[in-house]
Amino acid sequence: MTWQGMRGRIEHRYPLQKLNTWRIGGLAETVCWPESEEELREIWFKCQEQGIPFRLFGRGSNVLFPDEGLSGVTVISTGLAQSVWDSEWVTVGAGYSLARLSQEAADRGLTGLEFARGIPGTVGGAVVMNAGAHGGSIQDILEEVKILAPEGEVQRLAKEDIQFGYRECSLRDQAIVLEGVFHLKPGDPDVIQATMSENLARRKAAQPLELPNAGSVFRNPPGGSAGRLIEEAGWKGKRLGGAQVSSKHANFIVNQGNATARDVLALIREIKKDVHHQFGVELKTEVRYISPS
Ligand SMILES: Cc1cc2nc3c(=O)[nH]c(=O)nc-3n(C[C@H](O)[C@H](O)[C@H](O)COP(=O)(O)OP(=O)(O)OC[C@H]3O[C@@H](n4cnc5c(N)ncnc54)[C@H](O)[C@@H]3O)c2cc1C
Repeated sequence: MTWQGMRGRIEHRYPLQKLNTWRIGGLAETVCWPESEEELREIWFKCQEQGIPFRLFGRGSNVLFPDEGLSGVTVISTGLAQSVWDSEWVTVGAGYSLARLSQEAADRGLTGLEFARGIPGTVGGAVVMNAGAHGGSIQDILEEVKILAPEGEVQRLAKEDIQFGYRECSLRDQAIVLEGVFHLKPGDPDVIQATMSENLARRKAAQPLELPNAGSVFRNPPGGSAGRLIEEAGWKGKRLGGAQVSSKHANFIVNQGNATARDVLALIREIKKDVHHQFGVELKTEVRYISPS
């Protein structure tokens, strides 16, 4: 593949460890950070034409990268970071930091994004995962998305064209999110800021933010708490290789320094088996393992 004319950064044999919050993974054959939608489309088209694997990520805060590394092209969206405010509306690039957007909304006295202040992903990752917390989620404020559809054309979809579920939406693995349009509402700046500070404090108290992790590993089963089940099954603090079930929050697996994807996958497998054995509950992972093939 030729890269002439590409302005964004390109690296070969780049450590995936640097591209995710778990700090795990082998080498990526090629990594690109496009700086515009046009560049991203061009990379996508070249990969399609030449049959090269193409994968796109944001901040890597909900993925487990493989120890074997990734062949083909790994695209990181963080260069697509434009934002345009128009009173209560904001149009944001897929690579924009969700936490930053949340703080900017608060600074403008706009309510609706308080839930997102502690979520370390991008806007694009948050849309496809329907990220949420503290009773709010992306689907509450999203109005429209611009996507790169599977046939390569750019489309605009209204919120009504997208199906949302718990930590998922119909765009997942079906389209590349290029941009999101969000509608917020005027609120009391002091109340907004206080709510965000309270949410952040609750996270700090409950989550092992001092060690590399990927947030909640398992989805909460309907009406229940994955963390509670894992804790009751006796897994809190248990370690396998460099991966450890956090002693602060049992639905987090932390990297104690040298964890591999294999360690994390084995821990996930054992926890699932045991929770099923003890409580008859089938835990499902929220974190996405990215298979090397
Ligand atoms: C400490 C911590 C706390 C967290 N708390 C929460 C929480 O409270 N609530 C919550 O919902 N999540 C939480 N998460 C998980 C994570 O931050 C969210 O799921 C986030 O939205 C993922 O965004 P990302 O940019 O990191 O996506 P990535 O991890 O880079 O990617 C996730 C998936 O989305 C796909 N994707 C990414 N960008 C795009 C795009 N532009 N178009 C199409 N597909 C794309 C990727 O291919 C991948 O399959 C937490 C994570 C951590 C580490």
